[in-house]
Amino acid sequence: MLIHHRRTRSTPVTSFSRDLLAIRRTLKDLARKGEITRSMEQMLSDWGRSLESDAENIQDFTLECQYQVLGWILDLSAAVKILDGGPRTPNTRVRKLIVECVRRILGYNAKVDLIVVPSNLKWKTLWCKAQHDPKTGEIAFILFLSPVIDYTQPKLLPRIVHEAGHADSHALELVGRGSSQDRWLGEASCDLIALLLSGPANLFSISEMVTAVGVELAKHSTYSHPSLILRTAIMREIAVEIWRATKIEGLVKEALGPIENIDVPVGERDERSSLSRGLIDSLPGYRRIDIGTEIWEGVYRGGVSASRGYPMLVSLNAFFAASRKGGGG
Ligand SMILES: [Zn+2]
Repeated sequence: MLIHHRRTRSTPVTSFSRDLLAIRRTLKDLARKGEITRSMEQMLSDWGRSLESDAENIQDFTLECQYQVLGWILDLSAAVKILDGGPRTPNTRVRKLIVECVRRILGYNAKVDLIVVPSNLKWKTLWCKAQHDPKTGEIAFILFLSPVIDYTQPKLLPRIVHEAGHADSHALELVGRGSSQDRWLGEASCDLIALLLSGPANLFSISEMVTAVGVELAKHSTYSHPSLILRTAIMREIAVEIWRATKIEGLVKEALGPIENIDVPVGERDERSSLSRGLIDSLPGYRRIDIGTEIWEGVYRGGVSASRGYPMLVSLNAFFAASRKGGGG
């Protein structure tokens, strides 16, 4: 009723509220019919409610935030359309890769409710939403693809492993907290998970990503994310540590060589050591998901063809192993 007295706000807000209400009804219906998991219903309904509140206050936001809220509403709506009968994961490689990673993180019995959505936000990065219910073993996972950069090409495909890392309960909890420090540690934890799961391919793909997004964006940090360059510097340290005196230690320099001269932004140097330390401390807890140095030694020295249960993660590395100039260890 009050809406008539708030003329400047009435049109967009009423329309968003109506759309978001319809979305929540569709989700409830799909969950009742068993077409989506309760985790998916809950995750998207909660998101819808928070967007509704954003929409009500949209005029208080900066233009950039308004664009973001609008993009999120479009993305939520696109996700629900897919759940309501659209193709869930058109790219089979992407689906197999995410499921393989999520099961390695949460256990083989994890029930993965997965969709892939082409995002409406013109971001150059991937992003995702995940919610895990340890009681039922359900994990709702949505990967949002960038409309600007194609992350399904082999050179960038390992970046999807970072997103799958968000299925990890500890990382998920950290990125959901209010403080920037915790969120940064959560993102760095997903990087660590991705390194342990996808090995050298992870490092090769970081160089490719910096080239794809450009140095300026790679040096940009936000409240939720440290810069890609800081994250790279930390991954370099950890990879050197875990692959020391193995046959693949030289791959760290080789993979990150093209971007080794880009310095960590001055404003982030203080955070570098605390994030590094946080990750080193958490390393023993994540060893359970490590695919193992021997597998990567085999792939890059041409000795192993057997996938030992990780066909997609091995194939990501086989691509970079085959692309190396001159080959050899
Ligand atoms: Zn992330």
